[in-house]
Amino acid sequence: MCLFCKIAAKQIPAKILFEDDELVAFHDVNPVAPTHVLVIPKAHVASLGDAAPEHAALLGKLMLAATRAAELTGVAQGGYRVVANTGANAGQSVFHLHLHVLGGRAMGWPPG
Ligand code: AMP
Repeated sequence: MCLFCKIAAKQIPAKILFEDDELVAFHDVNPVAPTHVLVIPKAHVASLGDAAPEHAALLGKLMLAATRAAELTGVAQGGYRVVANTGANAGQSVFHLHLHVLGGRAMGWPPG
């Protein structure tokens, strides 16, 4: 079972912001911004690139959960970034689909 499957199954601890039947939002263990929340599906999908048409509704729920995480952590009004690192060049390190919700500071563009 992968690391984020274990978090979804409560087999390893995480600082959970909220969850429902299909997804979990929890704080990143190594935050790179004052708000850094990860939103994951409970079902294993390795990356955004592995999402299939049957995942369309789930992907929408993940995006809405990202906006909810921004609202709950108080960064919605100031602005925030939602990121899905996908594959080697993007620096994906955990191969279970996750959205990073980053906020609480100004960010540059393009990303590194
Ligand atoms: P990525 O590099 O896009 O695959 O992002 C993986 C993220 O998972 C990184 O930001 C890590 O800091 C984070 N991470 C790894 N292990 C844990 C953990 N046990 N709890 C919370 N976040 C984690």
